[in-house]
Amino acid sequence: MSASPDLLAALTERLGAAHVLTAPEDVAPYLVETRGLHRGHALAVARPADAAEAAFVVARCAEARVPVVAQGGNTGLVSGGVPQGGLVLSLARLDRVRAVDPLDATITVEAGVTLADVQAAADRAGMLFPLSLASEGSCRIGGNLATNAGGTAVLAYGNARDLVLGLEVVLADGRVWNGLKALRKDNAGYDLKHLFVGSEGTLGIITAAVLKLFPKPLSRGVGFVGLADPAAALALFAHLRDRAGHDLTAFEVIPPFGLEIVLRHTPGATPPLAQAHGTYALVEFSSTRTDAPAAAALEAALAGAIEAGLVEDATLGASEAQNQALWALRENLSEVQRREGGSIKHDVSVPLSRLPKFLATATQACEAEMPGLRVCAFGHFGDGNIHFNLSQPVGMDRAAFLAQWSRFNRIVHDVVHALGGSIAAEHGIGLIKRDELTRYTDPVALDLMRRLKAALDPDGLLNPGKVVVPEGGGPPALPSS
Ligand SMILES: Cc1cc2nc3c(=O)[nH]c(=O)nc-3n(C[C@H](O)[C@H](O)[C@H](O)COP(=O)(O)OP(=O)(O)OC[C@H]3O[C@@H](n4cnc5c(N)ncnc54)[C@H](O)[C@@H]3O)c2cc1C
Repeated sequence: MSASPDLLAALTERLGAAHVLTAPEDVAPYLVETRGLHRGHALAVARPADAAEAAFVVARCAEARVPVVAQGGNTGLVSGGVPQGGLVLSLARLDRVRAVDPLDATITVEAGVTLADVQAAADRAGMLFPLSLASEGSCRIGGNLATNAGGTAVLAYGNARDLVLGLEVVLADGRVWNGLKALRKDNAGYDLKHLFVGSEGTLGIITAAVLKLFPKPLSRGVGFVGLADPAAALALFAHLRDRAGHDLTAFEVIPPFGLEIVLRHTPGATPPLAQAHGTYALVEFSSTRTDAPAAAALEAALAGAIEAGLVEDATLGASEAQNQALWALRENLSEVQRREGGSIKHDVSVPLSRLPKFLATATQACEAEMPGLRVCAFGHFGDGNIHFNLSQPVGMDRAAFLAQWSRFNRIVHDVVHALGGSIAAEHGIGLIKRDELTRYTDPVALDLMRRLKAALDPDGLLNPGKVVVPEGGGPPALPSS
């Protein structure tokens, strides 16, 4: 697409030259996704200061028929923010916390506030904003909502979707929908905000949100547990959920290979348990009550599990520093996988009861396809969500391994589909899973998605080529960079 001088002149006049980037070196960081898997192209990057400027940019682009690709922190893992032409609309300068209301238990923030800053603003008001991801220092709340982000606190508090009460959205024609309500109950017509949550910039541009806050837990207990296998992990999960209910705030699994590479690549990390086990769980209880410390409740629940023969061994953090050290074994997993060479990722979910079957079937199928391949299946077990990642065989060429991405996707996604699961649990569809969505989605659902897209963005200008494409296919996927 050639640059439109009139469009760029209009944007520059309104936003200022410093906030309409056209020099290749200024635009470059906005063209590539976080792992460098794809590189796109764009005529410019616009950085509005507020919702009115964002609406101006979208309206001018609509007139000029120029596509608009929203970007928050650009930490997305499915190449959803990588532009395939058109204009990148960075929300980073919409970074104000508009209001915090402890009585309503709400916070109103602009789309460009980082997740860490939303958490910090809630904390200063003596409250909790529970969404928590390893990328929270750089991802932005508009991006979190646009991807319906998950993370480590979903078990107790839900996904981003469950945490939103109201939205302000710039529509494809540049009009602004003010849906910034702070209501816990509102059945007045269709619930429009949920159309935009998880729509990955394809239906509208989120400029602000009213979010739910929660009482801050007064204590937490963290345990690292050795188990025979995933079936034992499932039994332990049910045992802890029965005893703790809402106070069970995390249940993450780590496979033996995952623990091995975290210990290998994390300076100062020590094995948490004396012996090796078939699988491991990182469990957390939290409590808002002064008379019921979480660590004591976790200790009692784990003692019961040991007595029942569900657990082989367990250790509890004896201080907040030890709790953090145990959590680091889980949180560092994505990072250390990079040190083991190429990794083919799957972010999938199945009903909880089918997790052991999924893990066994998918592992066997992948190992049979490529001897020496190392399965690193970890993550949010309590949500039924596994990051089923495949590390390359030792010594294999990285690029040759990554060239097998689609082949392994098909194997793993077929297993997920057969078990009634989802091929996109928390990272979304973007570009990477666009064709997989078409393959695995019920035709009626796909038709409804396409109709929604056509109704809200009739000219196909919002993040074209991502998530759902018109029947017959969209533009070809970008080549890997
Ligand atoms: C180390 C690491 C750990 C991660 N852990 C998790 C995890 O545990 N759980 C999880 O869910 N994700 C995780 N992610 C993925 C990523 O951080 C999330 O998807 C996050 O929500 C993206 O936010 P962002 O601001 O970076 O969005 P971006 O990457 O900028 O954009 C993502 C998508 O949303 C669209 N978009 C962005 N802002 C807006 C807006 N204001 N309005 C409309 N559309 C918009 C973009 O067009 C794009 O399609 C992780 C990523 C990394 C790098």
